[in-house]
Amino acid sequence: MDLTPAIFLDRDGVINANRSDYVKSWAEFEFLPGALAAIRALSTLNWPIIVVTNQSAVGRGIIPPTVVEDIHRRMLAAIRRAGGRITEVRYCPHHPDEGCGCRKPRPGMLRAAAQRWGLDLQRSVLVGDAMSDIMAAHAVGATPILVLTGRGPEQLTALRNADIDHFHLVPDLPAAVEWLLGHPLLAARSSKTNITASSAIATASIAASSVNTSAGIPSGKPLG
Ligand SMILES: [Mg+2]
Ligand SMILES: [Zn+2]
Repeated sequence: MDLTPAIFLDRDGVINANRSDYVKSWAEFEFLPGALAAIRALSTLNWPIIVVTNQSAVGRGIIPPTVVEDIHRRMLAAIRRAGGRITEVRYCPHHPDEGCGCRKPRPGMLRAAAQRWGLDLQRSVLVGDAMSDIMAAHAVGATPILVLTGRGPEQLTALRNADIDHFHLVPDLPAAVEWLLGHPLLAARSSKTNITASSAIATASIAASSVNTSAGIPSGKPLG
């Protein structure tokens, strides 16, 4: 079987504003600036785009699963209206104490998605704002990108304190997407990808990030 790479996106702090008291309703769901346009641009790659999000508010009894799923339905509808697509949304509803296999940093959601969609995790990318995102990507050999929206700044400190330095660092999701669309290695590896659609963006961002594109994964250094 021909495995495809995928783009995994964390939700809170990447697509929408993080809230320390959890996103408990659609009214509290606020798209980050440029996120919808970024997902639309990302959608020009023919790779599956999968949202993987820890929602322990469910396991903590703060919100029922139906509310999380309603938020996701509305989020997907808004993304579609903006011209983007998301292949699937997966969330971990468990309390951290439950020790489930799906709560990031564990890679259960990534592995389950790989099973379902036939993904090559080692050629996949995960964009997140937390150390747990970076570690989940590392657990399956995927390429992690840390954004500095949401919890990114504090989590960057945590990552550095933990001596974890194999991840790309960008300001936000639009910058992550720009980098991805222009990355010669990733773009070339997607055999079925129509890169002409995004070639204008790609050309611009190859120039912007050329310093980092040849050496594989740089050590947590800011990109262009
Ligand atoms: Mg997050
Ligand atoms: Zn779980």
